[in-house]
Amino acid sequence: MLKKSAKATKQRIVLYGDSTLRKICEPVTEITPDLRAFIEEMFKILKRAKGLGLSAPQVGRNQRFFILDLSSNSLEYDQMVLINPEIVSVSGEQCCEEGCLSFPGLYLEITRPNKVTCRYTDLDGNKMSVSAEGLMARAILHENDHLDGKLFIDYINSADRELIAGKLKKIKVS
Ligand SMILES: [Zn+2]
Repeated sequence: MLKKSAKATKQRIVLYGDSTLRKICEPVTEITPDLRAFIEEMFKILKRAKGLGLSAPQVGRNQRFFILDLSSNSLEYDQMVLINPEIVSVSGEQCCEEGCLSFPGLYLEITRPNKVTCRYTDLDGNKMSVSAEGLMARAILHENDHLDGKLFIDYINSADRELIAGKLKKIKVS
């Protein structure tokens, strides 16, 4: 038997430059107590970092799930866990400043669809679907990208990439 403190997962946010962020994540096959505890810890980290969303690879776990906490934006949905998400449809367009917890201090204007419908499994194993727009849609698309090793800097052109090269260099872990 382990002491509670020994069992607790030590999570930290993985920063840009870590190869974990470029890997394609594996589907979740079973919702285990370990996974639940891990996700609970993720919500704490997300809250502490004052972020809106956090994906599993950002805390070093190569599995297809992410969490959202939009409670500070008083949206209809606040805390959500999306396991094995699948983007079913997108429409419209929005351009907005976006940040990422793996890129501290970096904010970029990113164009994304304005509406999204996403199928996923919730923490109780139920098959769910969510349709969202605006900030919520942006958060779902951003976090879902992480599961395929895609990052928000991939959306900007090479000229803009050059402009932020210095900032990226500062963030990049060696
Ligand atoms: Zn991100």
